[in-house]
Amino acid sequence: MSTTAVNTQARIYRGRFAPSPSGPLHFGSLIAAVGSFLDAKVNQGKWLVRIEDIDTTRVVPGASDDILRTLEAYGLHWDERVTYQTKRLQEYQSVLDQLIDQGLVYACHCTRKQVKAMGGIYQGQCQLKGHSFVNSALRLSQQFATSHYSDLIQGKVEVDQALAKEDYLIKRSDGLFAYQLVVVVDDIAQKISHVVRGADLLEPTARQLSLFKQLNQTAPQYAHLPLAVAKPGFKLSKQNYAPAISKTAPKPALFDAFRFLGLNPEPALLSATVEEMLKWAIAAYHLECVPKVKEIQVSEDPHSSFSKFQSIPK
Ligand code: GLU
Repeated sequence: MSTTAVNTQARIYRGRFAPSPSGPLHFGSLIAAVGSFLDAKVNQGKWLVRIEDIDTTRVVPGASDDILRTLEAYGLHWDERVTYQTKRLQEYQSVLDQLIDQGLVYACHCTRKQVKAMGGIYQGQCQLKGHSFVNSALRLSQQFATSHYSDLIQGKVEVDQALAKEDYLIKRSDGLFAYQLVVVVDDIAQKISHVVRGADLLEPTARQLSLFKQLNQTAPQYAHLPLAVAKPGFKLSKQNYAPAISKTAPKPALFDAFRFLGLNPEPALLSATVEEMLKWAIAAYHLECVPKVKEIQVSEDPHSSFSKFQSIPK
């Protein structure tokens, strides 16, 4: 089992925010947007926006545009053209073909239920069966299992060894490319040097690191922000109907996002413009400010003041 050395050489900073357009932005996604934006700006870097619409079954019509309009309302202006995963299918196919040519991909006919019955971790049952690739889920034969890595906020992250070794899905049986494949192909293509996102992606990061190794590419550095949770273990998400953040009155949520990220804005900042608020935050922000916890509980009502953030150390 290898440990993936995270690149520590100085690279030109390129960060990104990669929302899935399955609904409007909520306070949890605003944290990832503001956190990745501030970190890029403090490091004189570029901040890119990528719409992760690869899972078309979850895309809500109009959500991509709504997300972009919301980012603009919060003064979060991206530096390069927005990319959409659904426009990059050829690139994903070409990496998939490369892995197939290397003999690293096999078709799997096991259902999710069957994998669950195996204990939730796939054990390679289909590897030697020679199933046809047509209409099949495809798995990557794991060569670079990564069970731990170093995160810029969370420190040493350890992942279950069996999970790290799993031959994970890179194409789904419904024909869609899997998130793990496309996110790595995109981060490589966009030369992303720093990924700042929510701590719900700590485990998938280990898989992504293994794929960077497989593709012989330098991985970005990762910084996983605490996740905004309604109660322990329950992240604010579109799936659990976290309310959309306001596009017309962005300042309160922006102020709360700063506080969530460990900054100490004075209430007077609320009288400034959004642009001034961000300018203040760029001057005040440092990655070390961010609480080194995986979750922070926020009020059930994300429109209320978050004066009572409660850290939940794990
Ligand atoms: N699209 C993912 C989400 O909205 C984020 C993926 C990433 O930042 O790598 O949860």
